[in-house]
Order: sequence, then C-alpha cells, then structure tokens
Amino acid sequence: MLAALREEVCAQNHELPLNGLVVGSGGNVSGRDPDSGFVVIKPSGVKFSMLTPESMVVVNLDGNVIEGKMKPSVDTGIHLYLYRNRADVGGVCHTHSPYASSFAARGERIPAVLAPITHILGRDVPCSRYATPGEVDTGEAILEAADGGMAALVKAHGVFTMGKSATEATSFAMYIEEAAKTTHLAMLRGRVEELSQKEIDRCHAWFRKNYGQNGNKETGPPAL
Ligand SMILES: [Zn+2]
Repeated sequence: MLAALREEVCAQNHELPLNGLVVGSGGNVSGRDPDSGFVVIKPSGVKFSMLTPESMVVVNLDGNVIEGKMKPSVDTGIHLYLYRNRADVGGVCHTHSPYASSFAARGERIPAVLAPITHILGRDVPCSRYATPGEVDTGEAILEAADGGMAALVKAHGVFTMGKSATEATSFAMYIEEAAKTTHLAMLRGRVEELSQKEIDRCHAWFRKNYGQNGNKETGPPAL
C-alpha cells in the first residue's frame, strides 16, 4: 500500500541525520496520501539507518494502524492533529535541530533577518507557548503560533514544519536550521536588523514566481 509515499517518507527521514538535524532516533517525517487520507510515518524508536520503505507505518487520521508491523512514532498524534486541522498540509517534519532549538529553548522566535529564508517562508519563524508533549496541547500550540504559516518552534522542545509534501516539510526544516545558525552567529556580534514585512512580502512573491523549474506560476510557492 502507498509504495511511492513510503519511499518518499523513508527517503526524507534519512535526510534528517544526513543534514545534522537529529541524533539517535529522535525526529520524524510523515506524508499524507491525498486520495485515501492515510498518513505514512516513521516507526517509533527505530534508528534512522535502519529505516526502509517497508518499515514505515500507515495510519488513518484517528491514529489507527492501517498497515505496518511496528508502532508509529510517538509524535504521530501531533502530526495527525496538524493534518486534521490544515487541509493544505501534505507533509510534516519534526526535529530537535540544535540552532533552531536553541531559540525554542529561550522561547524566542527566529527573527526574519535573512532574505533567503523569508523567500521560502514569507515571515519569521514563530515560537509557541510551552506545550505539554502530546497530541492536543502541542498540536494546538503549533497551529496557534504558525497562524496559517508553515513552521513553528515549540517552546522548550524543537521544530515543526509543514509542507505540501514530506519532501517540502523536510526542506523547510533544513533551511530553518541553516537560517537559525547564521542568525545566531550574527547576533553574537551585536544587533541584527530585521527585514520589514513589506520587503519580506516582495521577496516571497518574487521567489514564488521565479524559483526552480516551475517558476513564473502565480499559483503559490513552488514545492521545494
Ligand atoms: Zn520532539
């Protein structure tokens, strides 16, 4: 079942350690099948190097396992909360990547001081209130903070990104970590000026029209 989505979700989970976003078995990526509504997600507590497309777990939006021998990620409920409440989301990625999570540890957003990340997100990376681990409180905190956007830090926890696909959500997590690292280093040397929302909006619109092989479309940002 869902062989192509299993391949994609497995490949994107492998991207997390390859890009220094996770250690051990922490962190997870999922993707939603638009036809069935089923979600493919990483199994719980399995090291990334051991993941195969066959080991991914298929669940429905209520969290029932549809296919798979292993228990799904402990964060499955959070992923499902996001899917149930955001029809535009087809993929979710969660990491504790160190630079972005250092902002989360302080309960701080990542300010919009770098044009490349604002090209992609169209805004800063907000930080939520503290949330108790688990489906409802963390899910609500993410959506409150994201406010229709595609990413949020969860205070004292880490990074949650949403995308049109598992691949896009994972790309957002990579770019956010890069931006967090650069922003942190710049902040060590003093005050950093934030871009105006007007300029961010201009950058975001330019990127939507020009990035990648499918540029010049008016129909929203390209999938990354
Ligand atoms: Zn976590």
